[in-house]
Amino acid sequence: NTFADIDLGEVLNQNIRRCKYVKPTPVQRHAIPISIAGRDLMACAQTGSGKTAAFCFPIISGIMRGNHFAQRLPRMPRMAFPMALILSPTRELSCQIHDEAKKFAYQTGVRVVVAYGGAPINQQLRELERGVDILVATPGRLVDLLERARVSLQMIRYLALDEADRMLDMGFEPQIRKIVQQMDMPPPGMRQTMLFSATFPKEIQTLAADFLSAYIFLAV
Ligand code: AMP
Repeated sequence: NTFADIDLGEVLNQNIRRCKYVKPTPVQRHAIPISIAGRDLMACAQTGSGKTAAFCFPIISGIMRGNHFAQRLPRMPRMAFPMALILSPTRELSCQIHDEAKKFAYQTGVRVVVAYGGAPINQQLRELERGVDILVATPGRLVDLLERARVSLQMIRYLALDEADRMLDMGFEPQIRKIVQQMDMPPPGMRQTMLFSATFPKEIQTLAADFLSAYIFLAV
């Protein structure tokens, strides 16, 4: 019933203590062990439920455990190869996730970068060029980066879709499908996916059926 009970590793546990998180919230208590075990997950989670940590902790811990940090391929110095992608509907939410993820990843060596639309792209490109393990992005800006060949999704091992229902409401389904399509190149079975949504209309269930494999449904 504490974070120490979940095997997240010492550095991450230290960061959790630094954030003054003592007890996992219900969504964290259930989602984190499922994700650490490598299962896909569809979770019902409202704002304020602690869902950001629920998807960030397994991602950071997995990247550290696997020791597979992003590398800049010398032949493609301007292309970023993140290991994890967190998609969120708005600039505000993306920035919030970025801020939290940076705290969680403190002194882990895991680098988090954010990219969102409605702002100049140059600063974001410079951040990406410095390397990125976890990319937090809005769907439209990410499609732009993919079209400019500045991001590759070839190395993605973790995908989190945050507020999936809101992303669909905002009309991002074509962009999301385009993005996920780029991760479905071989080798298959490499990607672990977490879908978070406050509501579960038919469209979300379809998305889950298309993007997740043998997933666990969590309603807390
Ligand atoms: P979220 O639902 O991820 O937006 O989180 C809502 C707020 O709760 C944020 O300010 C988090 O920093 C905080 N929070 C998340 N998990 C915990 C926890 N286990 N203990 C205390 N605060 C938390």
